[in-house]
Amino acid sequence: MHAKARPADLLTWYDRHARALPWRTGPAQRSKGVRPDPYRVWLSEVMLQQTTVITVIPYFERFTTLWPTVTDLAMAEDTQVMGEWAGLGYYARARNALKCARAVVADHAGQFPEQREALLNLPGIGPYTAAAIAAIAFDRPEVVVDGNIERVMARLLNDPTPLPKAKPGLTRAAAALTPDHRPGDYAQAVMDLGATVCTPKSPNCGICPWHTPCLARAAGTQAGLPRKTAKKSKPTRLGIAYVMRRSDGALLLERRPDKGLLGGMLGWPGSEWNEAPTPAPPVVADWQVLPEEARHTFTHFHLRLRIMLAQVGLDAQPKTGKFIAYQNFNRSELPTVMRKVFDLSHDALENMTYTAPKRSPL
Ligand code: SF4
Repeated sequence: MHAKARPADLLTWYDRHARALPWRTGPAQRSKGVRPDPYRVWLSEVMLQQTTVITVIPYFERFTTLWPTVTDLAMAEDTQVMGEWAGLGYYARARNALKCARAVVADHAGQFPEQREALLNLPGIGPYTAAAIAAIAFDRPEVVVDGNIERVMARLLNDPTPLPKAKPGLTRAAAALTPDHRPGDYAQAVMDLGATVCTPKSPNCGICPWHTPCLARAAGTQAGLPRKTAKKSKPTRLGIAYVMRRSDGALLLERRPDKGLLGGMLGWPGSEWNEAPTPAPPVVADWQVLPEEARHTFTHFHLRLRIMLAQVGLDAQPKTGKFIAYQNFNRSELPTVMRKVFDLSHDALENMTYTAPKRSPL
């Protein structure tokens, strides 16, 4: 029965097996009185929303090198921050992170508030992130529930209710276990247990500190929990991306509007993304279609992008975007879908030659 699962057993396990993460103040340091840096805790939690630890680490290290404090980040140029975020996905997070850093500086004298309610008022901080920051950075006994923790709770309880219906019950179970003693370490300990032992497909129950009280382990049902309500299949949208090179090598790129998908990111000009996109070439040119499409999956839909290529003269006047000299073009500033377009186009672009349009002899 889950009520017999003891936080103390998990904390003992955590003291020995805590993951070393660049944003983490480990249990040994914490026991010596070292306090976590709320800025690093916040930044890691924002980056980890929808993204894996292994992907986040190099981004986190680069951000904290460039902007070691929340005040440094608040003063950063939007375009530089968006460029550094490129590839991490879910770009609204980057825009909200900047807004949040600026609000912390403007409204809280550069110090993150400690209370969950005050954290919730900051841009980009939802209930999970507010609870995680309050627990991890300020050692408050907040109930932190993410997908990992739901999985551990569903297994401790052997709860067959599918998600998302099971959420309230799993949150109550998590709340009943959250201790007043070392709540910050406890929150990270459950995260680590879910990430390293109670993993989705093959939980390693033999080394689990909650092996004895776990009902799913006793029933042999752990690998099938938590159950999930079948997801609706995602629709597919189509689009056209225009990759244009000027005869001096410059590439035509445009910054997407701040609001909406990939907001504020650099990309290739293109059509709308829908079931039947209307061609929208940025300039009249001898466009050639690439045989391969770029495919990408967003949260709510799959995208198939037809890629059109053209080389134009120095006098080209596109109706959208801006030419960027080839030596200033940085592939890593593109979001992943736009990188895929570039990677597919690269060889064909290299082989293209520019033919000036014929003019009538007058
Ligand atoms: S005993 Fe197994 S299923 Fe239960 S919490 Fe531990 S790892 Fe997860």
